[in-house]
Amino acid sequence: MNDQNDNDDGNENRWTNWAGNLTSVPDEITRPTSLSEVQALVKRSAGTTLRTIGTGHSFSPLIVNNGETLVEMSRYVDGPRKAWRWQHKGLDLVSFLPSALWSEVRDALTAPDPSLPQMYLSSTGALASINATGFVAAGCHGTGWNQQTVSDLVYAVELVGADGQLHVFSEETTPAEMPAVRVNLGTLGIITKLTLRVEPLYNLHDEEIVTATESVMGPNPNATDGEIRTENLHKLLTENEYVELFWFPGSGYNNGQIWLKKFNRTQDEPRDVPLRPDGWVDKMATQVMEWTATHPLFWTPILSLAWNTIHDRAQAIQAKGGFVAPAPRVMFYADQAFPILDLEVAIPIPQTGAGTWDVGNIVRAWYAALNYAYKFQGDFPLTTCLHARFTKTSQSLLSPAFSTATEDRVCWMEILSAYPKSEPDAGKRAAAMAPHLAMINTVMADWIGTRHGRPHWAKNWQYIVPHVKVKSLYPDQNFQKFNDLRRRLDPHGMFLNPFLSQQELFT
Ligand SMILES: Cc1cc2nc3c(=O)[nH]c(=O)nc-3n(C[C@H](O)[C@H](O)[C@H](O)COP(=O)(O)OP(=O)(O)OC[C@H]3O[C@@H](n4cnc5c(N)ncnc54)[C@H](O)[C@@H]3O)c2cc1C
Repeated sequence: MNDQNDNDDGNENRWTNWAGNLTSVPDEITRPTSLSEVQALVKRSAGTTLRTIGTGHSFSPLIVNNGETLVEMSRYVDGPRKAWRWQHKGLDLVSFLPSALWSEVRDALTAPDPSLPQMYLSSTGALASINATGFVAAGCHGTGWNQQTVSDLVYAVELVGADGQLHVFSEETTPAEMPAVRVNLGTLGIITKLTLRVEPLYNLHDEEIVTATESVMGPNPNATDGEIRTENLHKLLTENEYVELFWFPGSGYNNGQIWLKKFNRTQDEPRDVPLRPDGWVDKMATQVMEWTATHPLFWTPILSLAWNTIHDRAQAIQAKGGFVAPAPRVMFYADQAFPILDLEVAIPIPQTGAGTWDVGNIVRAWYAALNYAYKFQGDFPLTTCLHARFTKTSQSLLSPAFSTATEDRVCWMEILSAYPKSEPDAGKRAAAMAPHLAMINTVMADWIGTRHGRPHWAKNWQYIVPHVKVKSLYPDQNFQKFNDLRRRLDPHGMFLNPFLSQQELFT
């Protein structure tokens, strides 16, 4: 792992991830534009290592490859298009190249075309500017009680293996290998095309509610000798199709308030769609959050301002009974984001009967984080939010949501804090984030140790590695099966970096 390194400024090969917490100085950053260039690159790179970059939105050192080669795919083309929708044997599909962002996949799915219906994914993340291939390769997800992760939608993958050949996997031709291929962290080769299963475009009714934490999570177990009540959360999750929960430290004392977003499919026509927020708070968010990250005196007013803004916007939407819009407008609700550190864990929700689940893990995990944030509030360990999304389990071998129990669910819970990306002094950056790192390490004893969660590959799990052996969180056979395929495609570890090798995952 390389935290930001101040000595390499000006090096033309210096690469920094989106959040700014990682840097890499490879020998070369190469930008292939076609399949034949990717194949030639791989063939001439024997004995070296290659790590492929999407848009660098990962917070963990998946890509860092000092002294070796980074492969940047933003110039990759294949004719005039980067993404296109199509139909095959009764399936609605979208294919895209590794240069495509989610916004380009969205546009390909929804652009008017008299010969094809409009389509969309059943679930996505919140930000359209992320590279779609990197999102899938890292096992990423959105929300949806009856949806799987986005990687589970993969219908076909084309990649160039260490032999320089194009290998094609699909549900139709290689179904046995799909559980290994979907979530691969770029360790099988360079992906040159992905195809996902999609469905006819649908509208969503978006409701935004601000409510007392207890009305969703039940009473705080700290106040009840450990007793919890789960019926409100269970009802919320099982009676709505898509739920997201946020807790912001500015939302007050006594457990504060939850901003609850819920989306349900509807046949209603679009109405009351709010304008994209573009007030000064939005325009200045990056600068203000970065600057205040190293100036704790400003935290209290900034956190109150952030919460009041969210609260007022949610209330304005709710005053109209929510709004109705096509799914992409509702799911891509974040136009921009400011630099953060973020650790996310997939926490199991076991099914207990027909239509019932034990969400006790989630209530306890939520309060474990909340109670830590209150206890150490003077240090500001959590400066952005606590966030929860919900999906079905995944049968992809390396998905943090992996389970053979297909009707279980997982809660993807994350702790986010602002990161002072442009602060030049590494000591100040480290000091600003020390309370956050102390929080994630303490809370993970509950989320991972007690509740058997698994960290999201693309989030900040490198900071908990000294305390957590990630491989031990998966069934042994998952890595065995994955590595059987990986060794076939890459016998000499061309697509590994030192960080991944050190974790003893890919043997
Ligand atoms: C603001 C923000 C919002 C986010 N929202 C979400 C969210 O809603 N849900 C969620 O689950 N995550 C979310 N994330 C995490 C993010 O989606 C992941 O980091 C994702 O992997 C980003 O894709 P990327 O291409 O930018 O990643 P990169 O860091 O560039 O790559 C991720 C992985 O994919 C591999 N890869 C990329 N392209 C290829 C290729 N062509 N061939 C082979 N391997 C490849 C890389 O080697 C790496 O292992 C968010 C991150 C940020 C910063």
